[in-house]
Amino acid sequence: MVPIGEQTEELILQEQLAEREAKTLGQRAAVLRVYNYYRIILSFLLMILFYEVPGQTFIGAYEPALFQSVILVYVIFNVASGFYVLLVQNPATINTATISSITVTDLLFLATLMVTSGGVESGMDSLLLFAAAFGGVMIHGQISYLFPSTTLLLCFTSATYTYLTDTGDLQHFFEVALVGVAAFVINAMLQYVTNELKTREMEVVSLSTLERMRALAETSRKELEEQYDRFNVLLFSTSEGVLGLDTFGSIIFANPRACELLDVAHDELLNRNLQEFMVVSDTATEKPPILEEMEVAALDNYDPELWQTHNGEAFIVEFKAEKTVNKEKEATGFVVLFKNISASRAQEEQLQHLATHDALTGLPNRAHFNDILENALSRAVRGDRVTAILLVDLDHFTVINDQAGQKVGDEILIQMAERLVASVRPGDMVARLSGDQFAVMLIDLDLAENAALVAEKVIRDIAEPLNMAGAPESISTSVGIAVTHKDIIRADELLAAAVAAVDSAKNQGRNQYCFFEREIQQKAEEKKRIQMLLRNAIENNEFHLMYQPIVDIKAGKIASSEALIRWSPTDAEPIRPDIFIPIAEESGQINSIGAWVLETVSQQAKSWSEDVGQAPSIAINISSKQLQNDDFRKQFGEMLATYDIPVRKVELELTETGVMDDPDTCMRELTKLKELGVSISIDDFGTGYSSLDYLRRLPLDILKIDQSFTRGIGESDNDEEIVRVMIRMAHAMGLKVICEGVETEQHLRFLQEHDCDYIQGYLFSRPQAPEEIRRMIMGEQDGTYSIMNLESDAVH
Ligand code: C2E
Ligand code: MG
Ligand code: MG
Repeated sequence: MVPIGEQTEELILQEQLAEREAKTLGQRAAVLRVYNYYRIILSFLLMILFYEVPGQTFIGAYEPALFQSVILVYVIFNVASGFYVLLVQNPATINTATISSITVTDLLFLATLMVTSGGVESGMDSLLLFAAAFGGVMIHGQISYLFPSTTLLLCFTSATYTYLTDTGDLQHFFEVALVGVAAFVINAMLQYVTNELKTREMEVVSLSTLERMRALAETSRKELEEQYDRFNVLLFSTSEGVLGLDTFGSIIFANPRACELLDVAHDELLNRNLQEFMVVSDTATEKPPILEEMEVAALDNYDPELWQTHNGEAFIVEFKAEKTVNKEKEATGFVVLFKNISASRAQEEQLQHLATHDALTGLPNRAHFNDILENALSRAVRGDRVTAILLVDLDHFTVINDQAGQKVGDEILIQMAERLVASVRPGDMVARLSGDQFAVMLIDLDLAENAALVAEKVIRDIAEPLNMAGAPESISTSVGIAVTHKDIIRADELLAAAVAAVDSAKNQGRNQYCFFEREIQQKAEEKKRIQMLLRNAIENNEFHLMYQPIVDIKAGKIASSEALIRWSPTDAEPIRPDIFIPIAEESGQINSIGAWVLETVSQQAKSWSEDVGQAPSIAINISSKQLQNDDFRKQFGEMLATYDIPVRKVELELTETGVMDDPDTCMRELTKLKELGVSISIDDFGTGYSSLDYLRRLPLDILKIDQSFTRGIGESDNDEEIVRVMIRMAHAMGLKVICEGVETEQHLRFLQEHDCDYIQGYLFSRPQAPEEIRRMIMGEQDGTYSIMNLESDAVH
């Protein structure tokens, strides 16, 4: 505010001065104007009065021509200079030199006139003197005393000369002298009065200035007060704490919010140092520059983010500090604005945690794990040290979850997560990637083999008894290990490798760990290639079906034919179904392939039944993945109706491992399918881990013994025993038995002896084209063909 006051004061003075200047100029202009009119009128008057008045001159004989010339020149000069001043020039801007020269010229003319006019005789001297005196009055104050003094001098000179030369008497002398003195006195008085007036005016001006300045000061004070009020309202109502500090960090001012945040009374807060409210930290953190500027020695050891209340309760702070300076720009201290952001920070952290962690186990989720892994790999020092990922996949968790219920399943997952965290070193990271899949990141390992030690420990710890109501006694796990090396350095590569490794751990019988190997990766790549090729396989008509007869061992006749898919990709070698079917199952492409098979088989059955007269039985392989929803069942019903196929002529084959992956879902759909009247076979029996309990509950009709056991007939007592037991068990459960892969007479005899119902294998027929099957069935009908005789002969 001070500078504003100063400025205003200065402005007012300037304004006053300008006003005065203008006034003076105005006055001067007015006077000059009048003076000029007077001069013009005077010169004409002189000419009229004295042009023809002869008399005696001071200096000798009166020369009328001379006098008249002078008077003419005078008149012309006066008129010219008068009009110049009045019209051409603005009297207000005429400078003093011009005025002086005009005035002096005037006086010279008057003197000349007096000399040439005959002076006393003509009576002109008195008139001239009066004129001169009046002129002096008119321009008083403008050319100081020069004019009246000169006038006085002229009067005396004229009077004295007149007296001495006897051209006038003493009385006349006094008259003239009196006029001169009077002119001088009037001039002097006027001069005095004018100066007095001016001084008064100045005083008046100063007084009004003072008044205005006082008013201004009052307004400023009010403004200041208002500003102060506003400032106070702001300080009192702001949600931020405000502290005023001196250069040493001592608190010299605090708003109520600051006292509240620091939990201390205002008086107790004053004069304490800010550092008392900062929390000491042992880690060197980067200090905000403003703190460095505070001359507080110990501040280096404080955490700039953490403050504490008077009672030592720490809180996270966000603060701004500004330096304060005085008029001379010297530092006077700081103003610190701060707020407690503990709550919002906690909320942020919670949100962050929710986004990056799994809600059930509290472990980092897949996205977070990926981020951290990427980070770790980018920071990892190249060299001997390695980073490893263990992909921990609980064995048969889906089955356990289905049997025990989701609640128990969740508890198991929580317990497994805890065990995993406890199994690894504190620095290693454990994350939950999906349902029953966890990942452990081991950084900075000396040897890749160390990862195997951790995997062993993980497998052991997970296998510990569960002691949980409704849960199995224990649970096993498969672990895939992938370690960084020159080929695998990116996070996604490492994770893909671990996935491939855990797959092979499972394929090798679970409950074990497997290192990622190059072949596994190649398999993964091959898998990708096949998935790509499969995309257009149906549109490109790349599939066809072959049929393999299933022989009724007692009747020696074809009981049915199993449809087996064949695939010859347009631009690649044919690919076997046992290779591409699992891949299609994984990618979901199995659904469209299955639909295609169903439609094709139905058409074929219709065509055969037209040729043969009755519909032959057909076995169709389906994947358990096709039973995830009721699409297959619906399509199946539609197909049978469309192609008029008796449902009892159809067998659906499902592999044991497929069913056991998700037994409950399979059971639900199979039961409904069974209600339609279809036969259901469990394929490749003996390769999976189906429990007897499941086997009993599944709506089965036929059990197909896997060809690996058939192959053992005549070679392994163990296998023979298994086949015997399986046949007996199936019969005990009311199921028929098909033995797959019957290749030799020995197989046939053994199976005949042990009461097997049906056999299937190269001994009788390889999978055949539909035409061939039709020929076989028709041959059987008209007695020209017997499958058992023909093929058994062919084998030998
Ligand atoms: P699967 O259902 O167990 O079919 C029997 C497999 O054993 C067939 O292999 C067949 O050619 C072969 N085989 C039959 N007799 C003998 C024999 O005496 N010796 C030997 N070594 N093998 C014999 P294929 O056609 O390669 O099929 C392999 C598997 O692919 C099938 O096993 C089945 O699980 C699956 N599959 C085939 N077609 C389909 C289909 O349309 N849908 C589904 N979901 N799976 C299919
Ligand atoms: Mg089959
Ligand atoms: Mg089979």
